Amino acid sequence: MNKLQKEVERRRTFAIISHPDAGKTTLTEKLLLFGGAIHLAGAVKAKKSTRGATSDWMAVERERGISVTSSVMKFDYNGHEINLLDTPGHQDFSEDTYRVLTAVDSVLMVIDSAKGVEMQTRKLMEVCRMRNTPIMTFINKLDRDGQEPIELLDDIETNLGIECAPLTWPVGMGKGFKGVYDLRGDELRFFVPDGQKSTRPTDVVHVKGLDDPQLDELLGRDAADLRQDAELLAGAGHPFDLERYLAAKQTPVFFGSAINNFGVQELLDTFVELAPPPQPREAETAKGTRLVSPLEPDFSGVVFKIQANMDPAHRDRIAFLRIVSGQFQKGMRVRHHRIGKDMQIANATIFMAHDRSGVEEAWPGDIIGVHNHGTIKIGDTFSIKEPLKFTGIPSFAPEHFRRVRLRDPMRAKQLEKGLLQLCEEGAVQVFRPLRTNDYLLGAVGPLQFEITMARLKDEYNVEAGYEPVDISGTRWIVGGRDAKKFIAENGRDIATDIDGDMVYLVSNPWRLERLLETYDDIVLQTIKEHK
Ligand code: GDP
Repeated sequence: MNKLQKEVERRRTFAIISHPDAGKTTLTEKLLLFGGAIHLAGAVKAKKSTRGATSDWMAVERERGISVTSSVMKFDYNGHEINLLDTPGHQDFSEDTYRVLTAVDSVLMVIDSAKGVEMQTRKLMEVCRMRNTPIMTFINKLDRDGQEPIELLDDIETNLGIECAPLTWPVGMGKGFKGVYDLRGDELRFFVPDGQKSTRPTDVVHVKGLDDPQLDELLGRDAADLRQDAELLAGAGHPFDLERYLAAKQTPVFFGSAINNFGVQELLDTFVELAPPPQPREAETAKGTRLVSPLEPDFSGVVFKIQANMDPAHRDRIAFLRIVSGQFQKGMRVRHHRIGKDMQIANATIFMAHDRSGVEEAWPGDIIGVHNHGTIKIGDTFSIKEPLKFTGIPSFAPEHFRRVRLRDPMRAKQLEKGLLQLCEEGAVQVFRPLRTNDYLLGAVGPLQFEITMARLKDEYNVEAGYEPVDISGTRWIVGGRDAKKFIAENGRDIATDIDGDMVYLVSNPWRLERLLETYDDIVLQTIKEHK
């Protein structure tokens, strides 16, 4: 095995998806503890609220105590290099959250055992489905009363459309939570609240399967329940199947309690064992599309996120680039294909859990930060020889809309420039209605509007505000015989996006449905590839 193969093989690049408050931060922290990346529980949370920031829009973040500038945490575990990409999830939920999922090879889904599948998880799952991203599931907070485990699996199967293969099974819950039974290894793991000393001689007991009478001694009446559940699972459940997991048809499920650090190590061990290493990615080339393998020696990478003002002193922007193939070396000259220029990546940054540091070398699956002086857009591809354009980093139809109000009409040019750049960076989407001179802003999460205004003021010296508009969604008009007629007859509700592509502005979903009956040969989409 050559060095490139070895480096690819040992890498795991993933993100955690969950609904706010399910325990993503807590779990992240425990994972980082195992990786030795942090030494203190609470460090991730603390970082959220005490991070120093001077620019205005980071003040927005500080006021709300949330992290807009989430990034990448790198740590190693048992010889594996792990890149954990953060998915902003509270009020800072944005298109970035979706785009991060297009840059990972697998995800870990956290579900609150009392709440089951929630709205944001469902949305994020849709993005995972676009690329058939493998998903491992952690059902959290078993130390609290929640739904029956069987019900939770049923909830995941029906609401997320993926079969569940439990690898552990809980014994009791809430005050009566005794631990989990490892269905693959036939081991009973007793629950010990974090920070408390165990009074048992051993916390992990190997048994000879579920019929082992030792279980009755160890669990009392719970043993019968465990056997009953196992019987139900044998009848109605799905046995674990690696191929189905890797094809995103099945999710292995673990039960535990993140805050008690219970069930987390098993999850991490299984994750590094089963989760896929860096995967090939589709690219458009001069000769049509092809899959670029991570094992190709020539470096290539794709930009999936741009972050402004991570270093307020320099007012810089950092493009996050996911390495797709080959080795990256400091000082390397790469081709920026969209603008047709070579550039040297002299001071790329690699993201560590505790800080950022300069990169000497990096490998497929790694994320590097490249300084961006306004020439890098989301979806841009860098490579060495062959001209490539990676696909699969789309724009997502916004769900929130505002109309921009410029306070000083003399600043119109600046406003246009600012909005254009912020749009290219993926901070917000900008639409121009065909019939008016308005600027409409669209975002996946409403906080983006505040950020946009603060950045317009901060970086472009433009004072602007915004007002509500009666729009609830957009559809890109991508084709069909009726498209022309549709655009001509519904001009009032049509706008162009940053690339000049036509967009239908949905103010009333029922009206849209009726229109689709009238113009039946039309293709509308809620996602669009970056150009
Ligand atoms: P996030 O919003 O998904 O990042 O969730 P957090 O990690 O911030 O957790 C939300 C809340 O749930 C916090 O108050 C945590 O202390 C709590 N929490 C996390 N894991 C557990 C758990 O295993 N058991 C219990 N009882 N609470 C938990």
